[in-house]
Amino acid sequence: MATTPGPASARIPSGHEDSVGSQAPGPLESVRSFLSLHDHEVGNDESFPPAPATVEGWLRSRGLIGPEERVGEPDLEWALNVQNALRALVHATAIGTTDRAAAGLLDEAAAEAGLRLRFGEAPSVRPQADGVRGAVGALLAVSFLAELDGSFRRLRECCAPDCTTVFFDRSRNRTAKWCSMAACGNRSKVRRFRERERERSRSRAAIGVGETTVHGAPSGEGRS
Ligand SMILES: [Zn+2]
Repeated sequence: MATTPGPASARIPSGHEDSVGSQAPGPLESVRSFLSLHDHEVGNDESFPPAPATVEGWLRSRGLIGPEERVGEPDLEWALNVQNALRALVHATAIGTTDRAAAGLLDEAAAEAGLRLRFGEAPSVRPQADGVRGAVGALLAVSFLAELDGSFRRLRECCAPDCTTVFFDRSRNRTAKWCSMAACGNRSKVRRFRERERERSRSRAAIGVGETTVHGAPSGEGRS
């Protein structure tokens, strides 16, 4: 993500809900979708961090905040910080390290959301806060429980450099690389093929052989 996103008004929110194969089981799917939330610009496949308005739209579409509920920018920024820290945790887990700064931020966010344990017939971890902090607090609770049962470890970032989707890795050895083989997997195949061809034409040019037309490139290049 080397370029800077343009104005938020020019962006299109995307959560990749269409990648059914990458979805997580049960309530963890909400966390996965939240972590995948990003923006695109018109005519640009590159993914950018979500604008506060994208976060607000996502929370509303999921019924996590009311249709008329007023949401302040500080709360949305807070939600974006939580998204960032949870993503950092996903990244750290994937490379076998810990991210203390991210974990510390999440500890604080959990306290700010007023997460409380409830014992009884239906034990739960519930936020005391309402609004955005309560909604994101509920996602923190799900993430925490998923850390305990190990399912959080299956959340992975897509390996495509221009894709910010987090997917649920169902492979036995947790070695899946793409949020979607049909989209990012194939796109990467096409990219590698073109790089190899470029490399080949460069070496042909270097030894004085004319350019030849390339046939048989993998097809179906899709969006992220
Ligand atoms: Zn992807």
